[in-house]
Amino acid sequence: MKVLIEGAGIAGVTLAGFLQKGGVEVTLVEKAPEYRNDGYGVFLWPLGKRVLGHFGLLDTLAEKGVPILYNRLINQHEKFIYKFDFREIAQKYGDILTIRRQDVYDCFLETVGGLDIKFNTTIEKIHEHDQVVSITLSDGHEEDFDLVVGASGIRSPMRDKIFPSAKVKYYGKSMWLAWIKGLDLPKNHSLSMLGNGSGLLLFPAGKENHVVYMMTPAPKKYVHERDEDRIANIHKAFIGFTGLVPQILSQLDNPADIMHSSMSKVLSDTWYHKRVVLIGDAEHAMSPISGIGMSLALEDAQVLSEELLAVNRDDIPLALERFSKRRKPRLQQARKLSDGLMFFLTPKSKVVCSVRNFGVRYFLPHNFFIQQVMRMHEFVI
Ligand SMILES: Cc1cc2nc3c(=O)[nH]c(=O)nc-3n(C[C@H](O)[C@H](O)[C@H](O)COP(=O)(O)OP(=O)(O)OC[C@H]3O[C@@H](n4cnc5c(N)ncnc54)[C@H](O)[C@@H]3O)c2cc1C
Repeated sequence: MKVLIEGAGIAGVTLAGFLQKGGVEVTLVEKAPEYRNDGYGVFLWPLGKRVLGHFGLLDTLAEKGVPILYNRLINQHEKFIYKFDFREIAQKYGDILTIRRQDVYDCFLETVGGLDIKFNTTIEKIHEHDQVVSITLSDGHEEDFDLVVGASGIRSPMRDKIFPSAKVKYYGKSMWLAWIKGLDLPKNHSLSMLGNGSGLLLFPAGKENHVVYMMTPAPKKYVHERDEDRIANIHKAFIGFTGLVPQILSQLDNPADIMHSSMSKVLSDTWYHKRVVLIGDAEHAMSPISGIGMSLALEDAQVLSEELLAVNRDDIPLALERFSKRRKPRLQQARKLSDGLMFFLTPKSKVVCSVRNFGVRYFLPHNFFIQQVMRMHEFVI
């Protein structure tokens, strides 16, 4: 079986790793000129870690990451709203880690080794036939593959070509990310601060620095912000926030060090056609607030590889159908969680925010959110 994967992000390399282990010939094309160094930190839930466990990576990840046992939720004046206690999840399924995204990627590539990645390369032409997919790459190379996988992220060109009815929905919010030094946050804690329309999440990523995710209001229709306006706009969105916020804002001095994500999700029902399939963000990007995109991408890679390794090349369409059937309920569950979190975290009105904060503090059952996360982990993929 010969497989071509578009995109050497976490979904693409993990699928390549699993297939390579199973003796499949895999080619990866990546449009970036070299390995990306996306400096942000991520939450890695046990459900994602267990996929990486198949490559013997759990000890290395534990060394690089920080276990998070609590998230403290406060308002913009540091008034306590709620404390999420993750210890039950950690005891049952293993630690929730915060970690540099790049560390996950690097550990993986180091352990798997030998992946054939063609950098600076994209797919120029794709023709689907019943038995093969004919590909022309941007370097002029032409080849037939038994399967082509689109693992090219939220802006996937493969999705646009093969699944034109899929849509990217913009939330009308912006997310800004930056590294912050010298903060005094209790050990094993992350902190969420919710204002009216703006909010932030702060957590340790790696052993030294913290990463801050700052969510700010944005025009309903996406408008590209000028770099020179970036810092002033973030300051404006956090006017009136106290506590650690002035210290965080004082460290935002270079717009180039502040990463931007337009908060969007992918809406699509179909992920495979003949011998082409989508995985990871290309298939189901969700709000970054839910913190599960990477874990889902890892699961996609595992499930797709299991289905592919169980068939011969003639039955690849059958494997894709089974893959889609296995992933559908999981993605429905994850979308529900992600959309629920967006609804909960992003009201603009001051009154609605106050009611929400009051409701969460006095009426939210002790382990409501934890139960949702437990359900995500109980799910058998
Ligand atoms: C701000 C932010 C915070 C996040 N926080 C978390 C978190 O805490 N926890 C979590 O689990 N997830 C988080 N996520 C989501 C997570 O990062 C993604 O779900 C995950 O990276 C998806 O992996 P992927 O491989 O599908 O896509 P990507 O990581 O986007 O990789 C796609 C790859 O395809 C390449 N590519 C694109 N177009 C082409 C082309 N035409 N040809 C060849 N290659 C191409 C890209 O260069 C890239 O290397 C966050 C996302 C964002 C934006």
